[in-house]
Amino acid sequence: MEEIKTPKKPILYYALIVLTIMLILNFFLLPKLTQPSYEEVSYGKFLEMVESGEISEVQIDGDVIYFKDGGDPAKFYRTGLMDDPELVNRLESAGITEYYSTIVEQTSPLVTFLVGWVLPLVFFVVVGRLLMNSLMKRMGGDGFGGNMMTFGKSNAKVYVQSTDGIRFADVAGEDEAKELLTEIVDYLHNPQRYAEIGANIPKGALLVGPPGTGKTLLAKAVAGEANVPFFSISGSEFVEMFVGMGAAKVRDLFKQANEKAPCIIFIDEIDTIGKKRDGVGAIGGNDEREQTLNQLLAEMDGFNASKGVIILGATNRPDSLDPALLRPGRFDRRIPVELPDLQGRIDILKVHARKVKMGDNVDFSVIAKMAVGASGAELANMINEAALRAVRNGRKYVTQNDLEESVEVVIAGYQKKNAILSDNEKRIVAYHEIGHALVAALQTNSAPVTKITIIPRTSGALGYTMQVDEDEHNLMSKTEIENKIATLTGGRIAEDLIFHSITTGASNDIEQATKLARAMVTRFGMTEEFGMVALETVTNQYLGGDTSLACSPETSTKIDELVVKVVRTQYEKAEGLLRSHMRELNALAQFLYEHETITGEEFMGLLNQLTTVDVKPAAEESPLTPTPSLFD
Ligand code: ADP
Ligand code: MG
Ligand code: ZN
Repeated sequence: MEEIKTPKKPILYYALIVLTIMLILNFFLLPKLTQPSYEEVSYGKFLEMVESGEISEVQIDGDVIYFKDGGDPAKFYRTGLMDDPELVNRLESAGITEYYSTIVEQTSPLVTFLVGWVLPLVFFVVVGRLLMNSLMKRMGGDGFGGNMMTFGKSNAKVYVQSTDGIRFADVAGEDEAKELLTEIVDYLHNPQRYAEIGANIPKGALLVGPPGTGKTLLAKAVAGEANVPFFSISGSEFVEMFVGMGAAKVRDLFKQANEKAPCIIFIDEIDTIGKKRDGVGAIGGNDEREQTLNQLLAEMDGFNASKGVIILGATNRPDSLDPALLRPGRFDRRIPVELPDLQGRIDILKVHARKVKMGDNVDFSVIAKMAVGASGAELANMINEAALRAVRNGRKYVTQNDLEESVEVVIAGYQKKNAILSDNEKRIVAYHEIGHALVAALQTNSAPVTKITIIPRTSGALGYTMQVDEDEHNLMSKTEIENKIATLTGGRIAEDLIFHSITTGASNDIEQATKLARAMVTRFGMTEEFGMVALETVTNQYLGGDTSLACSPETSTKIDELVVKVVRTQYEKAEGLLRSHMRELNALAQFLYEHETITGEEFMGLLNQLTTVDVKPAAEESPLTPTPSLFD
């Protein structure tokens, strides 16, 4: 592989350019500028002026005569020297004796030095600084703080003891990740403790998890906690137009890291360069990526962890990484950074609320319960939305109401202020939502309804029913999934029962129900027909969870049939429930139609009043829903 010439020190190049400019300035420009400009006159005019006594000084230089008049400021002239033997006499008789003195005004050497060297130097240093700073910014400086320096080609930023940066205290929840990272920081501070016992610290640790869970944040916190240089670079910065450039960058990065050891290298979004190498179909650009990856693998083998270079990586697509990258000796430690649980969500809300003025009535646990499945980034966003809402409403602090509304904004979009919902549509939506809520309430093992609204949102939802679990659940039973599918069908059934026509309003419900039913068949082994056979695999667990089919076309047909059967069964079950509670359906829908938004208590209160058969308050159930249940 040919060596790629890289400009090692941009500073040096800059200095050279500055020097050249200053030399030109001092030897060509400055003399011209400091010298007076001479008006060219004829010899006759010169003699005239001599006679009229206008001239104060004359200098003869070769065959040119320079002279100036006595005015203030003096004007300078020049003329060609003629073969004039009378010249000396003429001058003397005009009283000009100092005709050999120097007319050229000598600027004092100090001033020349200041103007020629010191001023430009100051100027170039200032410009250079600004230039470097803007360069660093463009390279994606995202405020780690600390002293930054560029290191050649790799574009990695090095952070020496970032003091005002982010610390572990700024990362809420994620205790396991913090513990593992603390160990790494500790190793860099006390390597001898580990050496004594003969323990090897991992060379590399990979932070994996869904987007917005704080992977980058954790790496920044490590930079803040470890008092060692911290090289941070994003995987995409290695991706170059030309084959070999990315590899050169990797080489360069590791060379510098070795010089600075002990230190930490952080490669964010490492999947950009670490994708599996698939022998087939290397069309075009793949060469570059593979070379970069090969270089990275080689470099990771090449250095000795005992020197104290530790590599952190972050990705939300661990499944797409090349296995070679994950084997022990490279990224041998995987640090999961998962979506926060209930306590984690409360803590994250608190961390971000520190920066915001909060009212006394704020209860973060209520908010955290509403925001099931929200990532750290979304929670941070909720706090900010609440603060913005408080400002909009002219308040000086954030209330519980602001927070609750902001949760809905983040998961369902803003309220559409002037959405035109015809009276008939409003009635249909009211029945649809009550259909969901009623089916949910009439089943056991279904999360309690907390809010029903028919105010349209910018996400396109014309209304929604919100169910919030009391506790955190990690498992979902077959019955619970079935109940959820039944609840999802409730909206459409209510429309059909009352209006004998169906609308497009159920499209999102249909999508969700199908997804659940399909997962039951293909992934959860919940059907008798297939039993515990995986027919689909999740390929992208942290990014939406795409699935890929792993079965024959015949089986695939069978799966489709089963999915239809599962959904239909639940539809019929829900229909039965609603048919036997038409009175409640009508009364509740009317109530919702009038009030537009009702709380879970209002709903349950009215329902209990209406039903002769006592409906168990759903709040006592233990439903398992890993995602926020919103039914449009
Ligand atoms: P990613 O995992 O995608 O790299 P980031 O680290 O960039 O996510 O997180 C984005 C933002 O979300 C952070 O800047 C922070 O404000 C917030 N955030 C995410 N997780 C947490 C957490 N555990 N504690 C506090 N804030 C968090
Ligand atoms: Mg990130
Ligand atoms: Zn619906």
